[in-house]
Amino acid sequence: ERGRLLFAAPVDFLKGVVAMSGLPPADRLEVCFAGRSNVGKSSLINALTNRKNLARASNTPGRTQEINYFTTQDGPYLVDLPGYGFAQAPVAVVAKWQALLKSYLSGRATLRRVFVLIDSRHGIKAVDDEILTLLDRSAVTFQVVLTKLDKINLKDREKVIEQVKTALQKHPAAYPEIVITSSEKGEGIETLRAIIANLE
Ligand code: GDP
Repeated sequence: ERGRLLFAAPVDFLKGVVAMSGLPPADRLEVCFAGRSNVGKSSLINALTNRKNLARASNTPGRTQEINYFTTQDGPYLVDLPGYGFAQAPVAVVAKWQALLKSYLSGRATLRRVFVLIDSRHGIKAVDDEILTLLDRSAVTFQVVLTKLDKINLKDREKVIEQVKTALQKHPAAYPEIVITSSEKGEGIETLRAIIANLE
């Protein structure tokens, strides 16, 4: 109920941030979304917020290295982190982004949860595991959100859930419950809204 109410009000783009000095005042809680490029992050944020193109800005070249802030009505900031794992990205760009990510994750006291999106067709890859390790070190609670569930059958669903559960055993900062979603079908969206609305 709280989740439905929170997302019944409009969610708006606030700003794109490229350095810690650009972060908005830490005057409310925030949750962030991380994941490999193409994992379905924009689609998930759009589904959560009932918007078609809210999170598209983060996918246009030039904005990809920005941390994008969205405001909810009387609720937490929604924070869209740049997609990682772009093979083509220049080394210097990757290094700059990793430095910003590190400072952000360890230096943002109001950050309550990091949703790490994992494509259900691929499971946790090495590049995801690097992020999970960084999250452990930052001591910020993260939760895995499986995406694109409509693309796999029930048997593969069980397999990927098992793979993720096993991988999470090595990560002390992991929240045990995995969220299963399909932005296409709307599966898991209410669950995710409720998790966000109930964070304290
Ligand atoms: P991002 O790069 O992580 O922001 O990924 P996008 O949200 O742009 O999605 C990447 C591709 O996956 C697009 O072609 C989407 O239409 C598709 N996609 C995203 N979510 C889903 C889903 O739940 N189901 C299906 N079938 N396709 C999806």
